[in-house]
Amino acid sequence: MIETVKAKIVQNNLTYFIETYGCQMNTHDSEKICGILESIGYCHAQSKKDADLILFNTCCIREHAEERLYGNIGALKRHKDKKPNAIIGVCGCMTQQKDTAEGLQKRFKFVDIVFGTNKIHMLPDMLHDVMIDGKRAAYTDEDASINEGVATKRKSNGSAYVNIIYGCNNYCTYCIVPYVRGAERSRKSADILREVKTLCSEGVKEITLLGQNVNSYGTDLQNDLSFPQLLREIDKQTDVKRLRFMTSHPKDLTDELLACYGDLPSLCEHIHLPVQSGSNSVLTRMNRRYTREHYIGLTEQLRARVPNISITTDIIVGFPGETEEEFSQTMDLAEQIGFDSAYTFVYSSRPGTAAADMSDHLDQDTKSERLARLNVVIKSSMRDKNSLYDGQIVKVLVDGARKRTDGEVGGRTRTAKTVNFLGETSDIGKIVNVRINKVKVHTLYGEKIGEEMTDA
Ligand code: SF4
Repeated sequence: MIETVKAKIVQNNLTYFIETYGCQMNTHDSEKICGILESIGYCHAQSKKDADLILFNTCCIREHAEERLYGNIGALKRHKDKKPNAIIGVCGCMTQQKDTAEGLQKRFKFVDIVFGTNKIHMLPDMLHDVMIDGKRAAYTDEDASINEGVATKRKSNGSAYVNIIYGCNNYCTYCIVPYVRGAERSRKSADILREVKTLCSEGVKEITLLGQNVNSYGTDLQNDLSFPQLLREIDKQTDVKRLRFMTSHPKDLTDELLACYGDLPSLCEHIHLPVQSGSNSVLTRMNRRYTREHYIGLTEQLRARVPNISITTDIIVGFPGETEEEFSQTMDLAEQIGFDSAYTFVYSSRPGTAAADMSDHLDQDTKSERLARLNVVIKSSMRDKNSLYDGQIVKVLVDGARKRTDGEVGGRTRTAKTVNFLGETSDIGKIVNVRINKVKVHTLYGEKIGEEMTDA
């Protein structure tokens, strides 16, 4: 069956284009989709307008992402009119929301396939249904299986994402993820270790372990490793130079996990630890199940173990009922901790979540004004933290060319600082020494002073 589709794709030199929205999980899902499509003969198209297959890999965390997506899908009507054989598909978290898949295909008659995050491996079958049988369909039913061995096309820049756990059981009241990505399912540690070893043998230096809540890793498995044990085994058994993970829930950051910091040579001096609010009453309404005191304590322990650790976070402002006093506690926490960086958002109501039904939703002006005030504090701490790098020599894993300046390439330090410098495209994928000579809020700039390092 797949051979028929494959022959059609190869004979007609068919091309694909994917537009990805949202988080690293989605980025990695798109890598899998690319891998599958290329394994059946598709080539990557340089732009949407040339493509025979266009896929939108969607996100539903925030309202505006959805609105933007609908606009972009709508704009494809002309593409389909000009190129009637083109296939249009929508996948990702948004399609898993109640009634969304049917709604999408009703609203956009030219959308051929809609599929959920657990159905990526079925893409060749779906394409068969469209190409050979002319069938439009949605494939979004709940499926808790984990599919190993899915072809994946990664960038060859020395870094790779590896999923370790899917789904989430936490039900933070503002979050749609548990409803669209389902309950937690961990991959077996043997499969993860095998994948990391393969990636290292292919030249990958940095691995980021992915999950909505990586700290829960293994709790649904029998006779397998916990998350800290998994980190230790990866550090011990593989050649990975830099090990990272995201995202981590403060309530599950155990002593065993803290002990990995400063102890495992590969574990990077960076943690992304979403705090969401500095107010205990808001944290309770968010169902986060930790206090500001607990969170501050964690950051102190991390800094005691690794003094130069970089701590980044996510913060939501304007949660339903957030008072000025509650918001001021978030400001105070941000000042006290001094984050290296933060993703700050205004609260966005997601239908179906507990917070959407709460009373006292704040008006947009109040939310935007608080966000602006918080961003001043965050920017100030980012500048302060970055200024510590001025004049330092840092090791940068170069991930790509920078478009704005000719000859500029860039990458990240172990502490996740972005560093740009004049270099060669042959530096991509290597770890090089860079002396920092200019510091900005988001980026450090410097000059390359050394060849690839043997350490990380
Ligand atoms: S931990 Fe909370 S915020 Fe993170 S994915 Fe799960 S429910 Fe959403």
